[in-house]
Order: sequence, then C-alpha cells, then structure tokens
Amino acid sequence: MTDSLHIVCPHCHTTNRVARSQLGSAPDCGSCHKPLFEAHSTALDEASFDKHISRNQIPVLVDFWAPWCGPCRQMAPGFEQAAKQLEPQIRVAKVDTEANQSLAARFQIRSIPTLALFVGGREVARQAGAMGVADIVRWTQANLPR
Ligand SMILES: [Zn+2]
Repeated sequence: MTDSLHIVCPHCHTTNRVARSQLGSAPDCGSCHKPLFEAHSTALDEASFDKHISRNQIPVLVDFWAPWCGPCRQMAPGFEQAAKQLEPQIRVAKVDTEANQSLAARFQIRSIPTLALFVGGREVARQAGAMGVADIVRWTQANLPR
C-alpha cells in the first residue's frame, strides 16, 4: 500500500498525486486549483473516460444513462446522494450514452440505467436497472475488492 494515490481531476482531467491521509481533507487540483471532490458525479465523455478509468487509483463508479430514459432521470437524485456518501473513497461518474454512443457500444450497454464499477482500469461489477441511494451505496461497497 502506497502513501499516495493518483486522483484524476474532474474539471481539467489532470492526474494529481494525493497523500492517502489528505484524501478526506478536500484536496484541490494542482493544475486548475478546483476541488478534486465536490460530492457530486463527474460527467465523462469519450475524451475523458479512459483517463479516469485507467489513471484513478480509487475505484470509479459509472452510471450509464440517457436523457430520454425515465428511470435514469428518476435515479439521478439518488445517484448524487450516493456520490456524497461514496466520495472521496470512490470517484462517481456518469456517461450520457446518447452523446457518447461509442462508449455505450464498447461496454455493450444494453439497458439503461446500468451501473458499472471499475477498479484499476478493469470492470469488476455491473448492475442494470434503477436503484435507490441506499442500494447504490450497498452494491458499490459489496463489489469493492477486499
Ligand atoms: Zn484540475
């Protein structure tokens, strides 16, 4: 276990090195000086997705959704609540599959919303269907590597 972690900035997508002990102390990005965690989800697109999935040394929870999907919109407030509870141990992100169809194709997203959990650049768990905040948090924590 190292003393520092690579955390990708949700604003400028620069990789920061953050001391493990500072993770909960509202660290700022060394490049754009904005907070690395803001207790809400980060919208990822085709340009930023791989940086966050492969460079973050914390797990990344991704909600694959679309604006036209009713259950996705219903789940959105709960997902933000879950982000508040899961950060900074986990990066919480969203991918609009309508705007980023190549990501939806690459991950073979067949129904939305679909939650996927990535650890070390690898998908470790996936769950289709809308969930409430408690279930999102529970599902995420149950699928973290021990
Ligand atoms: Zn930044």
